[in-house]
Amino acid sequence: MEESVVERVKNLFKMPQSLCRQCGQCCRVVCFKGGLSYEELIDALKKEGAPDADIVLIEGIKDFLTLFRPYKTNEEAREKNPSFVEKFRARLKNYDENKQYFYCCKFLDDDNRCLIHEDRPTLCRLYPLPHERTIFYDNCGYEQTAKKNIKEISDIIERLKKGEIL
Ligand code: SF4
Ligand code: SF4
Repeated sequence: MEESVVERVKNLFKMPQSLCRQCGQCCRVVCFKGGLSYEELIDALKKEGAPDADIVLIEGIKDFLTLFRPYKTNEEAREKNPSFVEKFRARLKNYDENKQYFYCCKFLDDDNRCLIHEDRPTLCRLYPLPHERTIFYDNCGYEQTAKKNIKEISDIIERLKKGEIL
């Protein structure tokens, strides 16, 4: 049976785990929402329960902080992965060394193994999403496939908008 458009898009978002080269880069130097600082994350958590609280953000921060600890300085993160820090800096129009922060997963060992691999959270299982904003780490095994999938997803969206497919 021919694959429907919805099925096709769903399949394009799922990328085979076998593409991962287990280099550990995406666990060793990461950012949260454009590089929010640890203090900003804690401040956002303090708003939990307030009428104007952003529940999605708060839950996201809780999940994130369960896994990640902040680097003391950006220099420390840069030593671990200079190219990612540079790609991130280039992506942000107003990158400010004093305001953007990087984090490292507490469950990554020195051999780039995930100590909770079988029980790793959804956040980790979804990475990397084939999205135009995703910043790929050097030699990430997913990059080529993700970029191909992003293009196909964009083409499908364009064709849907034009009414070429239903
Ligand atoms: S950067 Fe890519 S290849 Fe390396 S561990 Fe992460 S997902 Fe796997
Ligand atoms: S829990 Fe495992 S897969 Fe997730 S970021 Fe940490 S080391 Fe990586």
